[in-house]
Amino acid sequence: ERQKHIRNFSIVAHIDHGKSTLADRILEMTDTVSKREMQNQLLDSMDLERERGITIKLNAVELHYHAKNGETYIFHLIDTPGHVDFSYEVSRSLAACEGAVLVVDAAQGVEAQTLANVYLAIDDDLEIVPVINKIDLPSARPEEIRQEIEDVIGLDASEAVLASAKQGIGIEEILEKVVHDVPAPTGDLSAPLKALIFDSVYDDYRGVVLSIRVFEGTVKPGDRIRLMNTETEYEVTEVGVNSPKPLKREVLMAGDVGYLTASIKDIQDTRVGDTVTNADNPAEKVLEGYREMAPMVYSGLYPTDNAKYNDLREALEKLQLNDAALEFEPETSQALGFGFRCGFLGLLHMDVVQERLEREFNMDLITTAPSVTYDVELTDGTHKKVDNPAAMPEASTIKQINEPFVKATIMVPNDYVGSVMELCQRKRGNFLTMDYLDEYRVNVIYEMPLSEIIFDFFDKLKSSTRGYASLDYDLDGTRPSDLVKIDILLNGDKVDALSFISHRQFAAERGRTIASRLKEIIPRQNFEVPIQAAIGAKIVARTNIKAYRKDVTARIHTGDPDRRAKLLEKQKRGKKRMKSVGTVEVPQEAFMAVLKTD
Ligand code: GDP
Ligand code: MG
Repeated sequence: ERQKHIRNFSIVAHIDHGKSTLADRILEMTDTVSKREMQNQLLDSMDLERERGITIKLNAVELHYHAKNGETYIFHLIDTPGHVDFSYEVSRSLAACEGAVLVVDAAQGVEAQTLANVYLAIDDDLEIVPVINKIDLPSARPEEIRQEIEDVIGLDASEAVLASAKQGIGIEEILEKVVHDVPAPTGDLSAPLKALIFDSVYDDYRGVVLSIRVFEGTVKPGDRIRLMNTETEYEVTEVGVNSPKPLKREVLMAGDVGYLTASIKDIQDTRVGDTVTNADNPAEKVLEGYREMAPMVYSGLYPTDNAKYNDLREALEKLQLNDAALEFEPETSQALGFGFRCGFLGLLHMDVVQERLEREFNMDLITTAPSVTYDVELTDGTHKKVDNPAAMPEASTIKQINEPFVKATIMVPNDYVGSVMELCQRKRGNFLTMDYLDEYRVNVIYEMPLSEIIFDFFDKLKSSTRGYASLDYDLDGTRPSDLVKIDILLNGDKVDALSFISHRQFAAERGRTIASRLKEIIPRQNFEVPIQAAIGAKIVARTNIKAYRKDVTARIHTGDPDRRAKLLEKQKRGKKRMKSVGTVEVPQEAFMAVLKTD
């Protein structure tokens, strides 16, 4: 009976269309959070999310809604990120739900991730509740957007709710729609337990905390459970829900979304997408898990202090529990020592991982220049996957390099089609097609090298369309490309962590640009440091960092030890994200210099 009163739904949208703000209003309206505790984008609970104003993690909360029909419903609401790098969070959230509230900005209309995310929900057979948000904006055009949702997505939007999450308009109407349109969960309470792990996080005291959606049966403290794919067993210590603070429950049953702990200390045992069942009365089949995400971009991650290598490994293992798309394996660099090769879904993901490791695990790190994975065909007929430019084989042994390509869909107003095409062309794109979505909007489709998309393409796209273009892309195999490796030498020594791959046509030019950029970025040392860029044995650029003696305390008289200590401390802090490469101190920015292509 309880089941009939449960509604599980996610909020999905393009970034910035107002998901987290809508979640705030829903939390308020249902008195889940008191006025005193309320703050903007409450579910963005990580500092990093709040500082950047973006949602990075999915976040599930339970709330109680007193509907107009006099009954009380239990809602499990999952707020999701909108950025393409975090779409894995969205797909995992959707698998825990029966419905999705689709938020579309009344001024911006349907954008690339609106489509990408709503298609994920449609593929999962979820009931979609369309909401047109930000109707308070002077530039809002709700009726046009309603039409656009129908034309572009193919969804009936005649009953789309007109809302302003900011001003609290339409919130009750959305909740009523959730009650009436989103189906209640089904699932046999007396069947063996079947619960899907859709997220997890490591807690120093409780071990691994699993976020689960129970599909069949029940689970309570004391139960013996089995994780079906990893074939490990545990005794449940606690179950509960987040509301949004954790609340213990006596039991979770079919239809519920909540958390479970079982003193799981061995991190390797838990996999997002695994099925939890009863140990002594197991389910027959595992639930359909998740497609493994293939990383788009790789980079090296190194502790600035070599002694912290093991700490970094432990931190990566723990972070991976909460970031299922992160991959890593050990690697060594001549320049940087022992570290890890990590795979990410994009540069924002990479940046977030570095920041989280530093904040949540107290690491100080250097990430090296990102790279895509090349398929290198050698003259002896074998193939080699290369995701680290330093590992590119000798040019003489290479028959051909195949580069990953994507199919890029760029949604843009008519007026900007010209500038978009010009940009794509410049980034080695091949035009495929163009679809008119309606009177104003065009989908421009190109095949392009992944490396060009990942680096600064998005910023360029935004600036050449005054922010109007949105982008989505999918991997689309590899194509042969004329690529070369460019090495950077500091003080005469090749720095493997600074090597990068470029199209031959732009190689010499990029070598020069990067050498001169490094000259700006690397602080002066107390000796002159020559910087060179080389393709094979050929030097294509050469410049010098002049010597400079930097001793901030020299001029301070000994009478003021306080001030001296403070200055030293300040100088030490300035050294963060700085790594000694041979005798040269190299800051983090140097490794990212290759990202800016002009
Ligand atoms: P999300 O990325 O989809 O989670 O979007 P957020 O909830 O973080 O909102 C993005 C921005 O839009 C924030 O600055 C919000 O204050 C603003 N915003 C959200 N809803 C509304 C609305 O209904 N009206 C107006 N004017 N701004 C809104
Ligand atoms: Mg958000």
